[in-house]
Amino acid sequence: MSAIPWKARGASHLECTWTGETFDSEQLMGLSPAGRPLFARYDLDTIRRHFRPGDLEGRRPDLWRYEEVLPVRVPECQLSLGEGWTPLTDAPRLARRYGMRRLWVKNEGMNPTGSFKDRGLCLAVSRAKELGAKELAIPTAGNAGSAAAAYGAAGGLPVHIVAPNDTPATIVEEIQGLGADLVLMDGLITDCGKVVREGADYMGWWDLSTLKEPYRVEGKKTMGYEVFEQLGFRLPDAVIYPTGGGTGLIGMWKAFDEMERMGWIGSERPKMFSVQPTGCAPVVRAWQDGTEAARFWDDAETYAAGLRVPAAVGDFLMLRAIRESGGGAVAIEDAAMAEAVRAMGECTGIFACPEGGAVLAAVPELKEMGLLSEDDETVLFNTGSGLKYVGMTPVESG
Ligand SMILES: *Cc1c(COP(=O)(O)O)cnc(C)c1O
Repeated sequence: MSAIPWKARGASHLECTWTGETFDSEQLMGLSPAGRPLFARYDLDTIRRHFRPGDLEGRRPDLWRYEEVLPVRVPECQLSLGEGWTPLTDAPRLARRYGMRRLWVKNEGMNPTGSFKDRGLCLAVSRAKELGAKELAIPTAGNAGSAAAAYGAAGGLPVHIVAPNDTPATIVEEIQGLGADLVLMDGLITDCGKVVREGADYMGWWDLSTLKEPYRVEGKKTMGYEVFEQLGFRLPDAVIYPTGGGTGLIGMWKAFDEMERMGWIGSERPKMFSVQPTGCAPVVRAWQDGTEAARFWDDAETYAAGLRVPAAVGDFLMLRAIRESGGGAVAIEDAAMAEAVRAMGECTGIFACPEGGAVLAAVPELKEMGLLSEDDETVLFNTGSGLKYVGMTPVESG
């Protein structure tokens, strides 16, 4: 158990990511009054005196191993299904095939519902329970719905899930099997978000939308702590990540900042790369245009359901992390993702999701753009299991 004094446990306050205004963390709060995401902040000056990387040895093999920098204090509210602490797999044959010195695959397909969404929803549902939420709701393109259903069930809280009616059958059956209330509708995740907002306004549902509550990003940030710990307390040169709502990239960036404040690392950072499908690439377009935020992407289309996100409330946070890190953003065709899924499988034994395929397909593109060098030790995020997309892979044209 943690040696942190009780008053320094959990979050110290919430902070608006746009204005810097601060708020009490011990209340349910969605977006800031400025309509921007809130971040949980911690008393890191105190925590750093009691929490060192060496303390992590022998701890529980899930994301609660980082409890000093997580917001949930009440042990009965720390819901757990075995999320996080996923393998970081060295992939020498993949590295050779792609002309890289060293590639690692962080295999998030090993999470309880088969995607890294479990990390975020584990924290969001745990914290909602701790703060007294009674009923939860989430718009989803798929995997977030499974994860919300699982953690709602684990915590004994009802969950309403609103998803597009082309959500993969596997995920629909999974959500139903986990006992959640599922509403399928015409439209994209942004349309589903409107329905959830109405439920929040009229029915008192607690809205778990990406970055519209402060705690999913706290779960996702544990990927940053894990990569650091699994590489033997150091960071790689580059991280390639498939961004939809962007919590994973934003969360890892926050983790690196916390690690620096605790004296675990210096000011060095990996180059952070965002990968999106050519059929829905608002962040790539904004990065190319040099704008601070992204414009809505019309007619979003891709089989990588987790990346079918035409607008993200955290777009400016993604763009900041990408730019400050000296990284970049690149768009990948669906067919190239599917091809890369096979390459990943052949060379590693990992059956990747299309989003993971997109990340691998980005390697040669980024090299050609001069943003990634063969000497960059690179961590590829496979954000989910390919099993969740069976039957969805585009048919080969040629
Ligand atoms: C949701 C999702 C993504 C996008 O993640 P963000 O952190 O929201 O950008 C990527 N891959 C998979 C498999 C997903 O389910």
